[in-house]
Amino acid sequence: MNGVPRKKKIDTTEARRVIGRVMGENLREYRSSYAIALAAMLAVACTTAFVAYIFKDVINKIYYQRREDLIVPISLGILAAFVIRGVATYVQSVMMAKIGNNIVARYQHRIFDHLMKLGLDFYTDTRSAQLAARINQNVAGVRELMDITITTIGKDIPTLVALIVTMVLLDPILSLFALLIGPPVILTVRYLARRLRSIHRESVTLNSHLLGAMQEATQGIAIVKAFTMEDQLRAKISALIHRAEERANKIARVSERTTPITELIAGVAIASMIIYTGYRAVYNVEPPGAMFGFMTAVLLAYDPVRRLARVQVGLERSLVNARMFFEILDVEPRQADSIGSVPITVPTGEVEFDKVRFSYGNGVPVLHGISFVAKAGKTTAIVGASGAGKSTLIGLVQRFYDIDAGRILIDGQDIAYVSKRSLRQSIAYVSQQPYLFEGTIADNIRYGRPDATDEEVIEAAKLANADEFIRQQPQSYGTEVGENGVTLSGGQRQRLSIARAIVRNAAILLLDEATSALDNESEKRVQQALERVMQGRTTIVIAHRLSTIVNAEHIVVMEAGRVVEEGVHDTLLARPNGVYARFYQLQGREESPIIDDTELQSTAVTGPAV
Ligand code: ADP
Repeated sequence: MNGVPRKKKIDTTEARRVIGRVMGENLREYRSSYAIALAAMLAVACTTAFVAYIFKDVINKIYYQRREDLIVPISLGILAAFVIRGVATYVQSVMMAKIGNNIVARYQHRIFDHLMKLGLDFYTDTRSAQLAARINQNVAGVRELMDITITTIGKDIPTLVALIVTMVLLDPILSLFALLIGPPVILTVRYLARRLRSIHRESVTLNSHLLGAMQEATQGIAIVKAFTMEDQLRAKISALIHRAEERANKIARVSERTTPITELIAGVAIASMIIYTGYRAVYNVEPPGAMFGFMTAVLLAYDPVRRLARVQVGLERSLVNARMFFEILDVEPRQADSIGSVPITVPTGEVEFDKVRFSYGNGVPVLHGISFVAKAGKTTAIVGASGAGKSTLIGLVQRFYDIDAGRILIDGQDIAYVSKRSLRQSIAYVSQQPYLFEGTIADNIRYGRPDATDEEVIEAAKLANADEFIRQQPQSYGTEVGENGVTLSGGQRQRLSIARAIVRNAAILLLDEATSALDNESEKRVQQALERVMQGRTTIVIAHRLSTIVNAEHIVVMEAGRVVEEGVHDTLLARPNGVYARFYQLQGREESPIIDDTELQSTAVTGPAV
């Protein structure tokens, strides 16, 4: 199945695998940039160590031996070291940011392409959809993982090594003392990191619950308000927020615990060093330069040590994100085109279902051997109660899913063996809920056929009865719609989606008739637009309006995944005790057996359509 596995513990091997994969996918790509960044980091490490080392000469040669000739050279040396350090830090930061931004951009491209390839089954899994919604956060995880690893390896470890070398050069015995404090620091930090890891995992899970719950609540806001669920939801979300806050505080407490511990250890170390070197200076009359250089090295080492101590914490968080990201990227798109599939040619657009059996992933049969022919250029109306399998049928013509048995033929070609792209290009689909995308009105119509000329777009809009209202918009065809654009009425949106289908100029039209009620005037315009787009095309329509059904050249009556009757209105009506005849007699009455419940609402508002 395409489901994404639940969050599970990240063990060390898996962590290593994820890091390995991130490195493998990116190191080579950014070879030269990383080389520059690493060189800059090494320069930072060396100059840091140099500053510590030169302190010995500052104290001994300038203050102790009073060598006037060295004042200027040593000062200039220190100035140069700081300038190099500044430039190198700048180069390194800019380089890492550039690489990081590019990693994010590249993965965003990749994940979007991937999301477009995934079948509809992926999107019906809400958990996957939620994961997809948080892609940006997850991509950031991949970037962070690279940043942390490279900075650790390139900067902090070399800086620390250079400083330790400096310490040894300055005072080997004292270095031994200083290194003795290493193990206890490492041990405490490791203990805390382990504790943090489990708290952090809880926090990530909690936060995704929280985000998911908020997303659901806002997406279903109409239902929330209709059922006055606000208080219940508020209580539920409050509890989650409270727990997330507690976790975040706990993380802060535990991770900050490293600070007092390391401060204490550092204080003890420096105090003992002063005691040792102090007595040595007092009794041996030894110049204190080496000691000052040494202390400087210890103080400078503090920063990289602290960062290294936190590496595990940052790594843990970005690992969780990177792993979620790869989980989506690793979902195999199912039912790719079979090898040797050819483009379909659709001269007339006759659609034939031949003993089609189908079940969704869960194995429950939905269609039990459907056979019927939708004649070329004619309208075939599919009627049946909700859940009969009408939408499934429409989806199968577009090969959103592969069928279990039987064949679907278009002009005699089995669609299982043609390329999906060519198949879908010969079909226009008007969904029940018209969907507009970010962009202008013209863009939205042109999604039907990207190479349509402006004239064709306008012509389609005219046929769809949309031209008039489009011209009344602030920027006419250039008006922005979608998320950030103007709000159009339901009827206007429907007419735009019809214009999109007209401009596509495909031989086959799949139509899921809208059930939502429009006002009479709007309804008439939409109806007229639909009649025009159906003209001369093979139309398969999930019919909700009696007028559509009565006027159809062929009616297919479905019940629970089977075709129970088919024919034209008059013959079906003449059948004694026929399903259709019963339905027709009951039309307008509430217990209509073969028509969607939704229809009842729309007829109730708009009045009977015939
Ligand atoms: P209709 O369009 O006639 O209302 P559908 O084709 O939507 O019927 O549904 C037919 C049957 O298939 C129903 O029992 C429904 O529960 C099931 N079904 C629809 N979509 C899915 C899906 N994505 N996964 C599993 N079952 C589904």
